[in-house]
Amino acid sequence: MNAYQVQCDDRLAEVQWTGSAPPKADDLFQLAGLPSKGPGKPLAARIEEKLIDLSAPVEPGQIVAPVLRDDSRALEMLRHSLSHVMAEAVVRLFPGVKVAIGPAIDDGFYYDFDLPKPFTPDDLERIAEAMGKIVKESQVFKRSSLPAAEALELFKSQGEVYKAELIEDLVKAGETEVSLYQCGDFTDLCRGPHIPDTSLGVAFKLLSVAGAYWRGDEKRPMLQRIYGTAFFSDKDLKAHLHMLEEAQKRDHRRLGKDLELFSVHEEIGGGLVVWHPKGALLRSILENFERQEHLRRGYQVVMGPQILRSELWRKSGHLDYYSENMYFTEIDGQGYAIKPMNCLAHMFIYRSKLKSFRDLPLRLFELGTVQRHEKSGVLHGLTRVRQFTQDDSHIFCTPAQVAGEIADILRLISDMMAAFSFPFSLELSTRPTKSIGTDADWEMATNALKEALATIGADYEINEGDGAFYGPKIDVKLKDAIGRSWQCGTIQCDFTLPERFDLNYIDSDNERKRPVMLHRTVFGSLERFIGILIEHFAGDFPLWLTPVQAVIMTVTSRADELAVRFHSMLKKAGLRAEADLRNEKLGYKIREARLAKIPYMLVIGDKEVESSVVSVRRRGEEPKEMSLEGLVELMQKEAVAPSWD
Ligand SMILES: [Zn+2]
Ligand SMILES: [Zn+2]
Repeated sequence: MNAYQVQCDDRLAEVQWTGSAPPKADDLFQLAGLPSKGPGKPLAARIEEKLIDLSAPVEPGQIVAPVLRDDSRALEMLRHSLSHVMAEAVVRLFPGVKVAIGPAIDDGFYYDFDLPKPFTPDDLERIAEAMGKIVKESQVFKRSSLPAAEALELFKSQGEVYKAELIEDLVKAGETEVSLYQCGDFTDLCRGPHIPDTSLGVAFKLLSVAGAYWRGDEKRPMLQRIYGTAFFSDKDLKAHLHMLEEAQKRDHRRLGKDLELFSVHEEIGGGLVVWHPKGALLRSILENFERQEHLRRGYQVVMGPQILRSELWRKSGHLDYYSENMYFTEIDGQGYAIKPMNCLAHMFIYRSKLKSFRDLPLRLFELGTVQRHEKSGVLHGLTRVRQFTQDDSHIFCTPAQVAGEIADILRLISDMMAAFSFPFSLELSTRPTKSIGTDADWEMATNALKEALATIGADYEINEGDGAFYGPKIDVKLKDAIGRSWQCGTIQCDFTLPERFDLNYIDSDNERKRPVMLHRTVFGSLERFIGILIEHFAGDFPLWLTPVQAVIMTVTSRADELAVRFHSMLKKAGLRAEADLRNEKLGYKIREARLAKIPYMLVIGDKEVESSVVSVRRRGEEPKEMSLEGLVELMQKEAVAPSWD
């Protein structure tokens, strides 16, 4: 007889196992008295942070915890399991199809298929119907493990070349056994875990089909990716589908075109954004807002060059850990790299003069444009691009100042998020496998971040192994108007680069010491942040941010003179206005201004000319007559950018 421990909420339950074989996680949960059906039933098990199937054996000494519905990992597992169900349905309906991979993604799941004919909307309906049947059959996910060589033969004999390639890679990585999951008559190569059976997958929906290169590589075959999503309840699914509809209406790529903000051209190159006058204006308003706020909070504005010698990137570790994201060039036989980050030049500013403890903290701020290689398949509007500008800062401080500096950064982030009414949450990301620096440095840096989070009493989640290669980080995730999460700013704590670049300062005891380097952004990439803002506000920006605040429209050419005079008065008052004197119907002009989401429409006709007033239509409000002075005062009040004491 063996004693096992089951984590139930915050207590440990001890259960006795009399069987001869090791118990399954599910056996132990039942002995511990956890529900065996209904919403409280465990869907998988967890041993520390590792998720396992309910049917997986538990070794003596391991503490096993249930994974319940409300755990985000359970939802991810449900969605991934549904991708198997989808593949099973596709294999059933389309003999000869080859299957590739089927992971869960942020909002759902996909599976990639190789089929000569394109999937049609009708096909999607048939697939969903077949999936519904599989769900009804409550098929069990059965795990087995096979020697890699045998599994390779199995998939090769079925013509599953993509699975075979995946196994070959596993073998190259030293794996001798692989795990398979069978569901119905469909067997897939998969690490698992899954939900115990398909009956949980009732609330799902197939959404779309898109082309996707095998392994994201444009030199490999183009596959068909079917996207879907799944939830534990119909209610959650409905809410999500409503959100998707809303998101489509707000798509920043469409609004970007309607509002004449930006464009992207295949002829110029993927992921390279062209800012049109209104977009560039919006962007510079945002940049000025940030620059002023940083100056006010003790930062100094700096600028570094766009390319720096490769030798430096070797020294910083970027060549070893980041080179696949970088672009290289050569000048006079010397290797150079286009900067993917702004850190290096800032260290040279630090090093340019001997520092004393009195000079610290030194806060350098750069709206730094960087280039990073992204695979062409992931490029998307403004949110995934290859050239972008970061609101980047490097703070050099003493170890004792770290927690205080990070707390200040978190306050800045909190203020900036409030300026756009974004709620946000924080995540702490720890050491990744590919990283530089000593264990001691990583521990010190991670503790410094934790301490700062504790100082301001912030709640946060831990993201194991997701830090930058040179240090752990705090990620800021904001929530937009329709409930989507976006990762924006980060704060990274770095003990390694100051060491590699021999940065130091003279401390109060006259000793030479190493400063700590904090890397941080608030909005992250301005391109991405503007993309998020467009969707968050659905193009209806607050008045301080909107590129065109008012348009003056004439009803007749007799109003032209007054319109021109009013236009120049508005401009003199610091307001951004346009005048529409075209010989078009008023209704037409109003429709255009509405499409352009211009907040104030000012109409001047004969009546207004006579009394020197304007008819003012604020978006969504009834028109009213105002004097221009009254209007200027009203607009100036509304157009003030957020500020803090
Ligand atoms: Zn799987
Ligand atoms: Zn940096």
